[in-house]
Amino acid sequence: MVKAEGVHKSFGSAHILKGIDLEVAPREVFCLIGPSGSGKSTFLRCINHLEKISAGRLSVDGELVGYRQKGDKLYELKEREVALKRRDIGMVFQRFNLFPHMRAVENVMEAPMQVKGESRAVARERALKLLDRVGLGDRADHYPSQLSGGQQQRVAIARALAMEPKLMLFDEPTSALDPELVGDVLDVMRGLAEDGMTMIVVTHEMGFAREVGDALVFMDDGRVVESGHPRDVLTDPRHERTKSFLSKVL
Ligand code: ATP
Ligand code: MG
Repeated sequence: MVKAEGVHKSFGSAHILKGIDLEVAPREVFCLIGPSGSGKSTFLRCINHLEKISAGRLSVDGELVGYRQKGDKLYELKEREVALKRRDIGMVFQRFNLFPHMRAVENVMEAPMQVKGESRAVARERALKLLDRVGLGDRADHYPSQLSGGQQQRVAIARALAMEPKLMLFDEPTSALDPELVGDVLDVMRGLAEDGMTMIVVTHEMGFAREVGDALVFMDDGRVVESGHPRDVLTDPRHERTKSFLSKVL
């Protein structure tokens, strides 16, 4: 579903991603861990082309991100075409940034109506189902300010799902939440995984990675240091840097 081959990213003279190679299979829950500044968010942003890679190849569902290939030649996609592709990728951030003046259900309806031109009735019906799925069927008419952080994050997940993405990117979705609210959000993510969603999850929740993850990558300083099955990497890390990182977070 996602394939990175020698992906580099620089911001000016700052070399941030230094040759990332990895592959995410369909229906896989792919967890990404690593210290602050190692390039995890940057890599996620490259996948949906919020950042343009500096070198290497990156593809989603068999198509190069940001380019069309014809024979040996690459053509850069226009902004409109990029936007079209981005629809297929849901993204959930640490900060949920819901529209504050819209009710939960309206937040979830917004993109399908605005972007896909869906009718209000159809968008609303799906939104209510999705809110139900994230355990908020009875909160549809609440405004974000009337919801807890965990509830807001679950609305944000429902909002991403409303576009029927084929891939979901999570960037530390629980790290801004009070500890007692983390579980509900992880449960929703676990449910998504069980339903077969392909997910890349940047997280510090090692319990989630161990129980739900199919693959785990430890990144440091813009490189993949170690990867494997979460159980193996977490219980028997091979590299010193992985060991030292895990000793701080476990
Ligand atoms: P964290 O765990 O703190 O979220 P991260 O692994 O997600 O860290 P990134 O946010 O990807 O790290 O940042 C990696 C490096 O890239 C940092 O040094 C950051 O300052 C730099 N960086 C990110 N975005 C930009 C940008 N737009 N311009 C310049 N530098 C950037
Ligand atoms: Mg980050």
